[in-house]
Amino acid sequence: MEKLVTEKGPNSFYESVENRKECCHIRKIEPLKRALQGATIWVTGVRAEQSANRNTMKLVDWDDQHQVIKYNPLLLWTEKEILEFVDSNKIAVNVLHKKGYPSIGCAPCTRAIVAGEDFRAGRWWWESSNKECGLHE
Ligand code: SF4
Repeated sequence: MEKLVTEKGPNSFYESVENRKECCHIRKIEPLKRALQGATIWVTGVRAEQSANRNTMKLVDWDDQHQVIKYNPLLLWTEKEILEFVDSNKIAVNVLHKKGYPSIGCAPCTRAIVAGEDFRAGRWWWESSNKECGLHE
């Protein structure tokens, strides 16, 4: 991170998809790789309706990149079902969800969405990329 910030400044992710993916690689992908070392299963919170990319995922899959079984138990849950479950089980949630943030990432790369926008429109809003950081591609 120090090398990236020294060479490109603190906000290089706004300048290109390549720079943004470089930052995501250092801050997210590489640490996750270390965290998953020695694990046999990775349980995620991804849901199919969140994006076209996630809509192609399976409930249980083999993650070749991390050499683990990837289990996505919420994959087929709708937003409505999630909200009902959270409500009826009194589960604490991030207050930003009620302020227009259905998807929350790093602060400089996340904004609230407005009615009618895609779930992940607030992530890297300046890009027209597939709105993934690389963890689930
Ligand atoms: S989401 Fe986080 S890791 Fe990815 S570019 Fe933005 S600040 Fe970097």
